[in-house]
Amino acid sequence: MDHIVIIGNGISGVTAARHIRKLSDKRISIISAESEFFFSRTALMYVYMGHMKFEHTQPYEDWFWKKNRIELVNAYVKRIDHKEKTLYIKNGSDISYDKLIIATGSKPNKFDCPGQDLKGVQGLYSKQDLDGVEKYAPDNRTCKRAVIVGGGLIGIELAEMLRSRDIPVTFLVRENSFWNGVLPSRESQMINEHILEHHIDLRLATNLTEILPDENGRAKAIRTDKGETIECDFVGLTVGVSPNIDFLKDSGIEIGRGVKVNRLLETNIEDIYAIGDCAEQREAIGNRRPIEAVWYTGRIMGETVAQTICGNKTEYKPGHWFNSAKFLDVEYQTYGWVFSERVRKDSERHFHWRHPKEKICVTVAYNAETRKFLGINTFGIRMRHEIFNRWLTEERNVEYVMEYLKDANFDPEFYSKYETDIITEFNSVMGTRIVPKKKSWKRIFKTT
Ligand SMILES: Cc1cc2nc3c(=O)[nH]c(=O)nc-3n(C[C@H](O)[C@H](O)[C@H](O)COP(=O)(O)OP(=O)(O)OC[C@H]3O[C@@H](n4cnc5c(N)ncnc54)[C@H](O)[C@@H]3O)c2cc1C
Repeated sequence: MDHIVIIGNGISGVTAARHIRKLSDKRISIISAESEFFFSRTALMYVYMGHMKFEHTQPYEDWFWKKNRIELVNAYVKRIDHKEKTLYIKNGSDISYDKLIIATGSKPNKFDCPGQDLKGVQGLYSKQDLDGVEKYAPDNRTCKRAVIVGGGLIGIELAEMLRSRDIPVTFLVRENSFWNGVLPSRESQMINEHILEHHIDLRLATNLTEILPDENGRAKAIRTDKGETIECDFVGLTVGVSPNIDFLKDSGIEIGRGVKVNRLLETNIEDIYAIGDCAEQREAIGNRRPIEAVWYTGRIMGETVAQTICGNKTEYKPGHWFNSAKFLDVEYQTYGWVFSERVRKDSERHFHWRHPKEKICVTVAYNAETRKFLGINTFGIRMRHEIFNRWLTEERNVEYVMEYLKDANFDPEFYSKYETDIITEFNSVMGTRIVPKKKSWKRIFKTT
């Protein structure tokens, strides 16, 4: 019987294992150094914030693995010998495989800053990182101030976590507006305001130059390129992540920034595949990046590789881009492509609406010539994924999207609705006379 070995028990590795089990009777082992059982990385912040216990981040009961004959090995793979089809384990026995899936995820980036290896300086990625935050920033007596470096999604999550325990936070962001490489400027500006209103000391266009130690080798202050010294007891480095593949150097497996794969998620070595955050597409798919460090693409890759391994060769086809995140208490969703001014093409135009008082806004991207709808960002309004997926596939124009916008709203019934305001503004800016269609459940749930 084929032995399928998966390195990494994150969403991609575990999804692959579950689907291989659904499709076959193969022997399956998952090896992970981080935790015995799979947990939801995206929920780590809620453990620190007291909304749930760590056990609650584990989507499957402990008996699930035995029942489904998925062997779990809590160990670190230090080397792969693909000629012998053998994995060498740190402090453990070798493991042989017939087919291998590399699903080793990401690691937080460092950037050669003096002091980055001091105690109390860390990223936020793993269970061990969560333990580190708990140790060095348990409360505002032990941690009188925290400094977070790097203005992305993980940085703002860490800021929210620390603020939930009333720890003063200084947030250093290299760009002159938060996440403006991704968000259009008016959205980025709104999030700057929101961060400041949450009493986070946001310092835009500011770089970390050095972290200073105390006599015990623990961080006690940071210096910025503006010449300031800021005292602190904890430094969160959240300057992005990169594939966790150092152990693959000299393995013969082709690596770039990640493990190079084709559309079938195959590496250059027979019977070795790579999925999730650590996989790098040889050729990017459409506007997507070759490496996609997001939860749902890891899940899709896991399902896809399971098909191929079980004899049904299947290409990775992630469909239309979408994602969601949270900026403190503002929910953000994106469907299709809405590029920031820094990267957007001349043909991409934006219609933007913002609520006069609340942190609620919408940006709709469309092609200036064809009027084709390209994508939407929403803040503070929840939208229906299937509807935008359908409209993107049907290549609807922006006027159609406005006319039927009420169908896309996914907020609970008792929430205020803003489609009428949005369309009124659209008509006024564009000189159109769109009359919004009433929400129709029949249209929403139509299958073709
Ligand atoms: C705080 C945080 C919040 C996030 N929020 C979101 C979000 O809201 N939405 C979203 O889409 N994405 C989010 N992400 C990203 C998302 O969690 C990742 O894209 C996803 O978890 C990656 O899954 P994976 O299976 O590829 O790898 P991972 O979950 O990283 O799993 C890989 C596992 O392999 C183990 N491993 C690595 N090397 C070895 C080795 N040599 N031997 C043994 N084991 C090894 C690692 O320790 C790890 O346990 C967030 C990430 C973080 C850190």
